[in-house]
Amino acid sequence: MKTYKIALIKGDGIGPEIIDEAVKVLDSVASCYDFDFSYEEALMGGCAYDITGDPLPQETINISLNSDAVLFGAIGGTKWDNLPREKRPESGLLRFRKELGVYANLRPAVVYDELVNASSLKPEIVRGVDLMVVRELIGGIYFGEPKGRDENRGWNTMVYTRPEIERIAHQAFKIAMTRSKRVCSIDKANVLDVSQLWRDVVTEVAKEYPEVELSHMYVDNAAMQLIRDPKQFDVMLTGNIFGDILSDEASMLSGSIGLLPSASVGAKIGVYEPIHGSAPDIAGQGIANPIATIASASMMLRYALGEISAADKIDEAIKRALSEGYRTRDLAQFDAKEVCSTSEMGSIIANYVAKCKH
Ligand code: NAD
Repeated sequence: MKTYKIALIKGDGIGPEIIDEAVKVLDSVASCYDFDFSYEEALMGGCAYDITGDPLPQETINISLNSDAVLFGAIGGTKWDNLPREKRPESGLLRFRKELGVYANLRPAVVYDELVNASSLKPEIVRGVDLMVVRELIGGIYFGEPKGRDENRGWNTMVYTRPEIERIAHQAFKIAMTRSKRVCSIDKANVLDVSQLWRDVVTEVAKEYPEVELSHMYVDNAAMQLIRDPKQFDVMLTGNIFGDILSDEASMLSGSIGLLPSASVGAKIGVYEPIHGSAPDIAGQGIANPIATIASASMMLRYALGEISAADKIDEAIKRALSEGYRTRDLAQFDAKEVCSTSEMGSIIANYVAKCKH
């Protein structure tokens, strides 16, 4: 029997609660297949700082690099907000992604039929939305040099090189091949030189994927189109800062931040995590929605381990739990038949996974 080694980074706030539920579901799916998981826990974020003085201890990098994939909860909290920047939990996470070399962030935004009323947009606009933002994660303005500030000026540099654009474009086209075969590349080529290079390189890479239809859109228009008619998008390919903003906007189509998973891939080891933060306001109360993390575990099976059928099984079980009317508190006002705790939701999904035939 194959055993997959998973590095578990629970982190801060609701991180431990939601990771525990994802593990419950992973163990349940493993019982239906010919594979198993071994988990190794590693520290990151405020909890790591409290114990080691570093938000990203070297041991965490080592454990992660020695695994098949990393399942990550969330980090951060007000307790650590006044630390020097390099000691803050968020710095640990940025450094972690850079150390692992995960340059592509995949963020699906799916609107479940059962939750069309949970969106702040009209049901007819959001029903059937199923898009994927493919965001470049370790380049662009968040990392470009020079950067700095003095008393009266602050500056950052948005820089992309041809190889950086090529590799993220390949990711987007490959993903589009497994979906509806459409890529919309987002830039600001009417104003930014870096975006003109981005557009040229993406257009060149597209020639290697003749089945995929490529379009280009300016980022300001894309922000508007996501609200006007989100169903027009399949894969949205973006640089770092544009993707940061647009993927948060896209996530709101679905109604709760607690539903949406993500994957950071491109290197040997990928990181799978919910898009939300550590939600300190609800930590320890047993009311966090674990679905985003469970769906991240499903992405891990699909993209890191190639266990597509097991991933499908988890996705089906999530849909079933929602269609049967189970809701955590964040979604309680949307057609809930029963409001359940974090742990109950995990158990319901794990149960459906175990029952679902393959
Ligand atoms: P957040 O995503 O933690 O919370 C925003 C709101 O959404 C809160 O009201 C929270 O209760 C709610 N929420 C989030 N996840 C939920 C879930 N699973 N179920 C139900 N409700 C949920 O964002 P924030 O409040 O801006 O940040 C809190 C901390 O998290 C900060 O320290 C921030 O830096 C950090 N953060 C970490 C990550 C990460 O680890 N990847 C991402 C974003 C923010």
